[in-house]
Amino acid sequence: MNRKTLRIAALLLVLVMSALMFAGCGQKADSNGDGAKKYTIYSDKAFPPFEYLDEESGEYVGLDMDILAAVAKDQGFEYEVKNEGFDPAMTAVQTGQADGMIAGMTIKPEREETFDFSDGYFEDGSILVVAADSSISSEADLQGAKVAAKTGTVSADYTESIKDKYGLTITYFEDSPSMYQAVMTGAAVACFEDFSVIGWAIKNDGTSLKTVGDVVNPGYYGFAVKKGENAELLELFNAGLANIKKSGEYDKLLAKYGY
Ligand code: GLN
Repeated sequence: MNRKTLRIAALLLVLVMSALMFAGCGQKADSNGDGAKKYTIYSDKAFPPFEYLDEESGEYVGLDMDILAAVAKDQGFEYEVKNEGFDPAMTAVQTGQADGMIAGMTIKPEREETFDFSDGYFEDGSILVVAADSSISSEADLQGAKVAAKTGTVSADYTESIKDKYGLTITYFEDSPSMYQAVMTGAAVACFEDFSVIGWAIKNDGTSLKTVGDVVNPGYYGFAVKKGENAELLELFNAGLANIKKSGEYDKLLAKYGY
């Protein structure tokens, strides 16, 4: 090799290396270089059957995770999920860290001031939860009680709405399992939780709790984005949801979790 060819070879090497570096930089927003955006979706971390850690695989699984995967496949978009907890997910959407969230999140007017919601995909509501051996048989029995609540939830809102009426003392928890734990150990006498979620915990996780009475605030879960932003992601979600409902896939996913 003479000097000139060496110089050309070196120049080519530099060109190839910088091209590779640029490809690497683009990886985050466009993982496979096809120009598609990769959405960041936040979720709860311990809210079975909607999202929970599967110990064996080390992956987050659940109905929300399955619905999101089916919708994304149907609409051909890419995403990554961060299972950080419910309140952190709402904050992440509001600060723009997340493009959207799916977390068994109830659509309600107060939230519509700061979020845009998809069409509803599952109906649920809060119910009173006490220790399996508790003598509490109605909300009125909560008079003067210490109750547990999960930060930012509609159940926490409901608990606050009856706080003065029953003279409640409320202690807040960041996730559902810690809230259940407080009721099971007697640190709190009750909490409110989404009916399907506490039902799942009692039936499948052997949680020694029971529900009292009926659902107090029925509503629908929706996928959410920050108000006025990510409209295209919301449209993709709605279109995908409609398609998987039509194709029967949505019903199959519900059946997988016993609904
Ligand atoms: N559905 C309830 C809410 O929207 C609880 C959600 C959750 O804890 N992940 O507030």
